[in-house]
Amino acid sequence: MNLIIMGAPGSGKGTQAALICKTHDIPHVSTGDLLRKNIADGTELGKQAKAFMDAGALVPDELVIALLKNRIAEADCKKGFLLDGFPRNKAQAEILDTITHIDIALNLDTDLNKLVDRMASRRVCPVCGYSTSASLAPDGKCKECGAELIIRDDDKREVVENRLKVYEKNTAPLIDYYKAKGVLKNIDGMQSIDAVNAAIEAALK
Ligand code: AMP
Repeated sequence: MNLIIMGAPGSGKGTQAALICKTHDIPHVSTGDLLRKNIADGTELGKQAKAFMDAGALVPDELVIALLKNRIAEADCKKGFLLDGFPRNKAQAEILDTITHIDIALNLDTDLNKLVDRMASRRVCPVCGYSTSASLAPDGKCKECGAELIIRDDDKREVVENRLKVYEKNTAPLIDYYKAKGVLKNIDGMQSIDAVNAAIEAALK
């Protein structure tokens, strides 16, 4: 099954993506994670992408498309995959259609006004990628591996506001794009993690 998960920054996409991939045993292909790995590894692509990411802007299409194309050509993606953070605009969606087919596009429907606070309180583990809310980790430590949790550079309030603007302008129109193709499933993303997950599993049946 080739899936996409869409939703505004802070909608809980990453958390739900990890649950879906575990249940269906498919790889989680997150362009944000792939870009952050390139930055951490100091690659040329990472160097080019960093300034865009720090500003909450989209990385140029050609860089992200090359990254995505290489990733889904890997052997583990033969059995299906879940795309998280790609496509981010119509041009990327059109290119994706020339590379592969998509069975279902899940859209986490959220209240954008509530997301700034949700993201400003997000804490992530720089070692294992675990993500949580500051209130759920009062000791500031990762529940999975014990490392010190950090605030992602692009989760700072001004950057978050810009990421939401970028989302509304570029990414929200993809909801109509996949609706027109008949593969869109809308999910209420303002529920608890478990309830969102149950709604997703019902939509994938
Ligand atoms: P994410 O982890 O999906 O929120 O992505 C973090 C940042 O990576 C975004 O704010 C963009 O700067 C960049 N990024 C991730 N995926 C894409 C994409 N498909 N196209 C352009 N930029 C992207």
